[in-house]
Amino acid sequence: MLKLYNSLTGTIEPFESIQPNKVSMYVCGPTVYGDIHLGNARPVIFFDVVKRYLKFINYDVLFVSNITDVDDKIIEKAKELKVKESELTNTYTKHFIDMTLALGSAMPDIMPKATEYILQMIEYIDDLIKKGFAYARPSGVYFRVGKVSDYGILSKQNIDELSQGVRITLDDDKEDPKDFSIWKVTTDGISFESPWGRGRPGWHTECAVMNHEIFGQEIDIHGGGSDLKFPHHENEIAQTVVHDHHHLARVWMHVGRLDVNDVKMSKSLGNITLVKDLLQDYDPFAFRLLTIGHHYRQPINYTEDLMVQFAKEYDKIKRSLKKAFLTISLAKAYTMEVDTNQIEIFKSLMDDDFNIPNVITLIYDLLKQMNKAKDPKYLSVLYQTTKTILEVLGIMPQYELSDETLILYRAWEDARNDKDFSRADQLRDQLTERGWM
Ligand SMILES: [Zn+2]
Repeated sequence: MLKLYNSLTGTIEPFESIQPNKVSMYVCGPTVYGDIHLGNARPVIFFDVVKRYLKFINYDVLFVSNITDVDDKIIEKAKELKVKESELTNTYTKHFIDMTLALGSAMPDIMPKATEYILQMIEYIDDLIKKGFAYARPSGVYFRVGKVSDYGILSKQNIDELSQGVRITLDDDKEDPKDFSIWKVTTDGISFESPWGRGRPGWHTECAVMNHEIFGQEIDIHGGGSDLKFPHHENEIAQTVVHDHHHLARVWMHVGRLDVNDVKMSKSLGNITLVKDLLQDYDPFAFRLLTIGHHYRQPINYTEDLMVQFAKEYDKIKRSLKKAFLTISLAKAYTMEVDTNQIEIFKSLMDDDFNIPNVITLIYDLLKQMNKAKDPKYLSVLYQTTKTILEVLGIMPQYELSDETLILYRAWEDARNDKDFSRADQLRDQLTERGWM
């Protein structure tokens, strides 16, 4: 049975979906004002594996991940570049999709954009005001944090300690410094008409509303980076509990950070590597292997050396698989059969809160057995088993072995047996060129 670490309870729990055989999952997506960096890519890769695995164990999965296309950072960047916000967000939404696919992740089933839900956000905010949990001020609408009894439930923050840490700025007209903005009154940049004046919604409200609109009920899994736990996810929960009278999600999954030399990778620190730059030099699946080769809740300390190491590891996996595939094809021993015992081991590791690092050890073990296998039929079973696992992780290399290549390979073997070394060398070159030597 699948067991997951739930950030909400701080324990590993058996996973039970709300509806039998169905999983609803929401993951906070990018704010589209620039190209994604390696830190942004980590949840894109991990939650893709989560979806693949849930499907593998026969769940019907509805995976939603949003695009934040209205935000202060977008407005600033659009001004800087002297373009319209929509032009900027369209460009970077497209770049985000390109990079998601390049990293071998499937697109979410639904990818809502915040700007498509403005009317629903206004209605939602209006309801929070009517319920007494939000109030309008000249600067905007704020959520009354102090009125929610279990505020801090996810991030385990004590509400009283919280107020000590909040900075009070002079222009703040909030009742309480802890209250957060759900509508900002402003005409600076993209803005929309509302009963409280022209302005734009707060980020925490955007995700809460899109969840409400798309799922309309409590969901199974809500995910995101661990840095979103507070205040973003905490505030999503608070609004949902008040507006919908149910919890937002049963299980909260948070992916660890990706650091560079022990410092968080972030635009403001200027230590970022963009995905598009990394992919100029490395196989995307090698980076995928690096990402999932670390347990998802642990931080990754990214260095160029680490990337080089994983590129070599991935190359080794790829070469072993191709070698086995060639042997199987020459012997015409291809089978769809898998070693069910090994698949059960794989499932038990994945069921253990996605212990993918140990799955990778299992893959190396399978490759070792493949290298030793004498019987092509048995080799083929091992190959198919490994392929099944790699497909769930989204790192199965792509290659094609044509009949022509097989003929060349047989000719090379014959030339070697006949000791016709110059012909063998010539054929070897051709096979190398095709990537099969
Ligand atoms: Zn969110």
